[in-house]
Amino acid sequence: MERQPSVPDPDARCDTVDAAVRLAVEVPGERYHRNLIACQVACPVHTDARGYVRAIADGRFEEAYLIARGPNPFASICGRICGAPCEAACRRGRIPRVDDHGHFFGVDRPIAIRALKRFACEWAGVDVRPPDRVLEAVRDFVPNVAADAEEMAALLHAHKRGGFEPARGQRVAIIGAGPAGLSAAHDLALMGFKPVVFDSEPVAAGMLAVGVPEYRLPRELIKREVAVIEALGAEIRTGVTVGKDISFDVIRREHAAVIVAVGAKRSRALGLPGERGPRVYGGVDLLRAVAVNEPIDLGHDVVVIGGGNVAYDVARTVVRQAAYDAARTAARLPGTKHVRLVSLETLEEMPADTVEIREGDEEGVERMNGWGPVEIQRDDHGNVTGVVFRRCTRVYDEQRRFSPIFDDSDRRTVVCDTVLVAAGQTTDLGFLKEGGTDVDEFRPGWPKVDGDTLATTASGIFVAGDLAHGTRLLIDAVASGKKAARSVYRYVTGHTIRPEAVEAHLPLERYRREFNYEAIRRAELSTRAPAERLTSPGAFVELGYTEGQARREASRCLDCGVTPVFDGTRCVLCGGCADVCPTSCLKLVRLDTLEATADLDSAIERTLGAGTDRTENSAILKDEDRCIRCALCAMRCPVEAITMERVQFTTVWSADHVLE
Ligand SMILES: Cc1cc2nc3c(=O)[nH]c(=O)nc-3n(C[C@H](O)[C@H](O)[C@H](O)COP(=O)(O)OP(=O)(O)OC[C@H]3O[C@@H](n4cnc5c(N)ncnc54)[C@H](O)[C@@H]3O)c2cc1C
Repeated sequence: MERQPSVPDPDARCDTVDAAVRLAVEVPGERYHRNLIACQVACPVHTDARGYVRAIADGRFEEAYLIARGPNPFASICGRICGAPCEAACRRGRIPRVDDHGHFFGVDRPIAIRALKRFACEWAGVDVRPPDRVLEAVRDFVPNVAADAEEMAALLHAHKRGGFEPARGQRVAIIGAGPAGLSAAHDLALMGFKPVVFDSEPVAAGMLAVGVPEYRLPRELIKREVAVIEALGAEIRTGVTVGKDISFDVIRREHAAVIVAVGAKRSRALGLPGERGPRVYGGVDLLRAVAVNEPIDLGHDVVVIGGGNVAYDVARTVVRQAAYDAARTAARLPGTKHVRLVSLETLEEMPADTVEIREGDEEGVERMNGWGPVEIQRDDHGNVTGVVFRRCTRVYDEQRRFSPIFDDSDRRTVVCDTVLVAAGQTTDLGFLKEGGTDVDEFRPGWPKVDGDTLATTASGIFVAGDLAHGTRLLIDAVASGKKAARSVYRYVTGHTIRPEAVEAHLPLERYRREFNYEAIRRAELSTRAPAERLTSPGAFVELGYTEGQARREASRCLDCGVTPVFDGTRCVLCGGCADVCPTSCLKLVRLDTLEATADLDSAIERTLGAGTDRTENSAILKDEDRCIRCALCAMRCPVEAITMERVQFTTVWSADHVLE
């Protein structure tokens, strides 16, 4: 329900509602406005996706990058591979589509937010500028509540203004240079610490560098994103395994605090007969070997067990390895290698993204759905000869819990010489145990963590990333790294700083939308032809938008932060706004048809006075899911009772102390 119930009018044209059915409504308030911008709410670091998408639509590409970069040190990488919870939440994906006769024929598709982020980053980010120029651009981007501001600049400016007391260069150790550890290092450096990051791999960036295949994420881009974090003052020591090259105790002694962000890089075994032995590998182990150029003995017929995105990364990487090998040694390797991906789930249930499944199909990954592994068979010499599967008749129970049921009478043996298991990952915290630390576990391999602070049970030891919350998305790891950094600041300095969302309402004078924006279809990113993709490890599959495509796609954004606001003291209840609304999202109703709640009662008392007769007064209801912010209601209103307002949340840093 919009801001104010309207005044009574004898000509009121209210829609009739069955008196027995009271409508449940939400009275606009801070929570209501905050939830309006669903993409920003859904992003774990609360990136103002709406802000950068609108900036792209207007041709303000540099600003778009700076908005995207603000809360996210891995913005450019996210532009390529983020799981994009913002898109899943995008309201355009729920807008009903109606034909010329007003008949419903399905819902629209979300804005391609991730692809637009890639566009902005390629325009003004690390792709095209060295680290110091990126930092300069961020520093010069003055946060202004009235305009789009961003978090990193806000932190820098708060620092400059004496908005909080910077740390005094204390050394903080971070174990693990994945996105969680590096995001923590990024923010700690901005807060005035000296972060030192240890990683056992020869390269930084964790799973981004040794898990995600190169055909999805360019290695050069990873290096550039990491270089900005180093330019801020973080020291990254690669090739150092904690627990082997340096003990956890020493690290703890030499640093003011420790963040453990070692991820979950160990493949989970299935416990099948025949699983231990040559040519059975964990999926992430295969990806790592390929990423760091370590030789791995793959046969001709490969079975990948798993149905998620990691299984597809594994299968598609093997398809590529096979293609390069065949190209290099065509004389010796006649015949096609088979890569079969076998999942418990049916095609419809598979957890992998649709695009992964489609592209895997195109590249020659042979899919077998609805089969569960029973045994890996080996010959007398220990060589893998096949995998026995049984039919899976159900994967999930009625509550969508994983609870597979099998038909043992329906078995099939798939002949193969190599098996790759991609059925989840787990942790390796051996180094904590060796030191006999006081970090308690809540179950084996997973430390007990305070969800608010990411503190463990041991003083001064925090966790972040997959280790803190289980395997999730890259952007979740970024968010938890930043959270751990704030907790370290509090632990070391005794003070608190935190980012706070500031709400601003800006009336828009001449608000107009792009012509026909509501009818534009989502522009899918084009991809390379399958045969071309397999020509080299660096042959990217997905191609970016051109400037024209990006602006057009961005112009589809409904701009959820803009909302019509109704002034009940002016409204004459003519119903023109409801009549003109193309999605029928407005409705005039009598107040007594609304379900009474404390919020509604107090709104009515505030605007109409205590003791208001609800049968004599009315309200305008707005269905947020349908409103496309076209402003036709405002244009149609004969008494200018409707204004378009921008509601915006900007990050400022607040401290429990300020410098003199
Ligand atoms: C194959 C694969 C593909 C993925 N694709 C996507 C995707 O497309 N989009 C998306 O959003 N998410 C994706 N993810 C998820 C995302 O990569 C992870 O959620 C994220 O990397 C977790 O970050 P992290 O920093 O917690 O851990 P990691 O990235 O796992 O980093 C942990 C680091 O700690 C180091 N380490 C471990 N033990 C030690 C030790 N004892 N001493 C020193 N260093 C140590 C490791 O070497 C590693 O570099 C993918 C994950 C995988 C496995």
